[in-house]
Amino acid sequence: MEAKDMICIVCPFGCKLKVKQNDASELGYSVEGNKCFRGKDYGIREMTNPTRALTTTVSIIDASIKRLPVRTSGTIPKGLIEDAMKEINKIEVKAPVKVGDVIIKNILDTGVDIISSRSMCQVSEEYNYLEQCLAQI
Ligand code: SF4
Repeated sequence: MEAKDMICIVCPFGCKLKVKQNDASELGYSVEGNKCFRGKDYGIREMTNPTRALTTTVSIIDASIKRLPVRTSGTIPKGLIEDAMKEINKIEVKAPVKVGDVIIKNILDTGVDIISSRSMCQVSEEYNYLEQCLAQI
């Protein structure tokens, strides 16, 4: 019988879960050690279709720094993380960018977007902004 010990990462309690194959259960697995239903969902998902959120950076031009922090708008299957990184590494974004802008729509047909985690001005705009700041000092 397939069984796996894992830590639930859904909330800071970090319950120790034991997930066992259980043909009598509707979902095919039973979960022990969870303090709430979310732990049960997490444990079963880890056995059947584990997913992860992805945070990384992409290349950006015309900005004051060369990498723009990005993240997935939701979770994607763990097995697609490497392919998603290959897609992300192919692109180059041009400033300006606003936080929440979609950088890649529906990556790998997952229904999840890659979105910007921060805003970045064009370099010239930042210089203007700095000049305005310095003028106020
Ligand atoms: S089982 Fe519930 S209480 Fe325990 S870590 Fe997971 S989400 Fe938190």
